[in-house]
Amino acid sequence: MNSDGNPQVIDEELVSFSPADGTVVDRFPIAGAEAVDAAVRTARDAQKWWWELGHAGRRQRLLRLRGEVSRRMPELLALMHAETGKTLSDARTEVATALEHLNWAPKHARRVLGPRRVRTSLVLVDHAAHLEYRPYGVVGVIGPWNYPVLTPLGSIVYALAAGNAVVFKPSEYTPAVGQWLADAFAQIVERPVLQVVQGGGETGAALCRSGVDKLAFTGSTATAKKVYATCAEKMTPVVLECGGKDALIVDHDADVDAAADSALWGGLFNAGQTCIGIERVYVVESVADRFLERLVTRAGELRVGEAPDDQVGPITMPRQIDVIAGHIADAAERGGTFALGGPESVRPPYVHPTIIVDVPEDARAMREETFGPVLIVNRVPDADEALTRANALPYGLGGAVFARSAGMRLARGMKSGMTTVNSTLAFAGMPRLPFGGVGESGFGRIHGEDGLREFAYAKSIARRRLPELFPLLSFKRAEKHNRLIDRLMRIRHR
Ligand code: NDP
Repeated sequence: MNSDGNPQVIDEELVSFSPADGTVVDRFPIAGAEAVDAAVRTARDAQKWWWELGHAGRRQRLLRLRGEVSRRMPELLALMHAETGKTLSDARTEVATALEHLNWAPKHARRVLGPRRVRTSLVLVDHAAHLEYRPYGVVGVIGPWNYPVLTPLGSIVYALAAGNAVVFKPSEYTPAVGQWLADAFAQIVERPVLQVVQGGGETGAALCRSGVDKLAFTGSTATAKKVYATCAEKMTPVVLECGGKDALIVDHDADVDAAADSALWGGLFNAGQTCIGIERVYVVESVADRFLERLVTRAGELRVGEAPDDQVGPITMPRQIDVIAGHIADAAERGGTFALGGPESVRPPYVHPTIIVDVPEDARAMREETFGPVLIVNRVPDADEALTRANALPYGLGGAVFARSAGMRLARGMKSGMTTVNSTLAFAGMPRLPFGGVGESGFGRIHGEDGLREFAYAKSIARRRLPELFPLLSFKRAEKHNRLIDRLMRIRHR
């Protein structure tokens, strides 16, 4: 982290700054490998207690945490605003969504993970079959800066509800928000079941090597590959939630007005710094002019800045501004035309809403995550062509479809873990829907029943319940028994 002269490390401390005005938000000692290992040891002890509490004890405490977060929401929103620059409105949406998960996971953990009897097989009818999901033990969570509450909690809450302890490394850009979450938890829960270790990539790498029993990473695909490789050294299982380049398709029979409104929200919410943000729009030619006119009008009305009612905040990570500017310049050089904004939209620390039309599919802005308030709109002859283009990238996180007749067909055809129909981003706020991607957007799932099971392993127990009917699982088996098995198999599987 020091090697690139990152200004956030000052006197061996991690210092977080407000991206809007550069003031210091907070500073924290950096955890080296020894401190990370010590946190994991502490977590291992705490986990035993946490597991012995049972589902009811964990549920009660996690639901109290939900109450604590909702009561102290104004304080949390102010801190998120200070540390990431996101508007209070964006921060509110993020925390409200996180609270839905904090409510759902503990209430459903017993049903999804608890012990149950399952049916046995005909030939093993003298056995009973038991299935339950047991926690891995200690889960390491590495989080990004763009959603410093929702994203890590999407792993932390499900891991805790499943009976694990957690060691969490927030992004170096949002250490104070991470610390706030752990401190709130400590007010409620008697033992250090959730701890925070502060630092940059080296601290994250130390967490990968610390012997945690599972690692949940959310961040860029490039870093995910490093995390995956490091975790492989100890065969530590991983869940990887990475980047995307999500597409929105507008079909010929879509509600064009609603599509324009949603494209804007899906693309520019959180100043476009959203893993599931809409970055590419494919609109069918026959409705393209109408769609663009509405999109551009509304985008032009958005208020950019720091005031409480502004709608597009600053770019959180200063170096991302160069990436956004590079994508805008490249799109222009490759023949894209600006329907709104242009290179002058980039006014650090802000990027003003920018809409570029008819950009070649191989431009950087069409293939790489831009992560800013920039939308590309390309016209296509029909929705199937839109789908082909939407599916052409190695990413596959989310996406959206606006259509009347073909909505579900197009949604199913989209190569992504999640798609909305006539809406955007909605799946993230539905605790029953698993969240995660395919391809370079990662694998594994947070949220929902799959999210609970992601942090537990299936434990199967086959228990003899009747005396042996015939010696199937024994060297006492004779030829007559083999003939009986043959007969049974013919009857059953013919
Ligand atoms: P990064 O990949 O830069 O960082 C993610 C986390 O990994 C940070 O805490 C970072 O620490 C840490 N890290 C960096 N290097 C290493 C390493 N070698 N070993 C272990 N950990 C390391 O992502 P960002 O923080 O920039 O987050 C934005 C990205 O996250 C975007 O690509 C976005 O699409 C994606 N994202 C995906 C989501 C999803 O659910 N699929 C949700 C939200 C975001 P540090 O910051 O201190 O360097």
